[in-house]
Amino acid sequence: MNAPSPDRCVDIDDLRLDAALKLIAQTGQPPERDLMSTGAFVQSVLDALCQLSSHDALTGLPNRRSFAEAMERELDRVARSGDIALLLMVDIDHFKRINDTYGHLTGDEVLRQVASRLQDCVRPMDTVARFGGEEFAVVLPNCSYAYGDIVAERIRQAMDGQPVVLSTGQSLPLTVSVGGAYTPQWVRSQADVWVERADRQLYRAKREGRNRVCMEETIDTVVSNEEKELLFGALAFQMGDHFDPSARTGNAQSHRP
Ligand code: GH3
Ligand code: MG
Ligand code: MG
Repeated sequence: MNAPSPDRCVDIDDLRLDAALKLIAQTGQPPERDLMSTGAFVQSVLDALCQLSSHDALTGLPNRRSFAEAMERELDRVARSGDIALLLMVDIDHFKRINDTYGHLTGDEVLRQVASRLQDCVRPMDTVARFGGEEFAVVLPNCSYAYGDIVAERIRQAMDGQPVVLSTGQSLPLTVSVGGAYTPQWVRSQADVWVERADRQLYRAKREGRNRVCMEETIDTVVSNEEKELLFGALAFQMGDHFDPSARTGNAQSHRP
């Protein structure tokens, strides 16, 4: 059987980069081929394509694809560390009216401003993404119940308290509804289930009149003795008589203020 021939040298002139370069040019920062080595140029094209495919063109926020990745990362971390994470779904109230009254381009401008305000409300470690249409999603890692509730309310107030000022100088008041759900500790749950739970709270906020925050009641995580053995068996072996699993899982009894 013939081994595949090693093809380590690619001639850059054999690559069809035109379509990629045209797309990248839209970002206003095309890589300058003359100013860099071939390897650096190809790398910067790949980096720019990754940026384009993971971010929303209108708001510049991470798009649904990269948000899904951020959620999976966070769910893995929660299962390993036992930290709590929060998912918030944020939806602009009666956004269709803004489009209908002022036009689609004004609607776009509002979406950009809401995106930027949302980012101002959270920590750098949190991920704000455009989930779709006029709906945004925020994942907050390592987020206590008390802090999560405060952030959700801060987001609501950041919109309710300050009208959006358009490039024309016109002020547009707007509000958002927010739904939130925390991850259960120590458990590897599924991203779509997490989204569904937060979404249910968002619909509740809409139903109850909009411009409000609804958070899911936190579920008590009951860890059985067998599960404690599985979780902490190795640690118990190392610590001998000093190991007290109930002290460790004390935090896992989730309570809601
Ligand atoms: P609710 O309070 O129930 O959320 O009402 P709503 O009007 O915000 O929700 P609805 O789902 O009825 O309308 C959402 C609108 O968002 C309709 C759609 O045209 C508009 N939209 C979605 N994506 C964009 C976009 O990228 N730009 C603009 N300008 N409008 C968008
Ligand atoms: Mg809406
Ligand atoms: Mg919506």
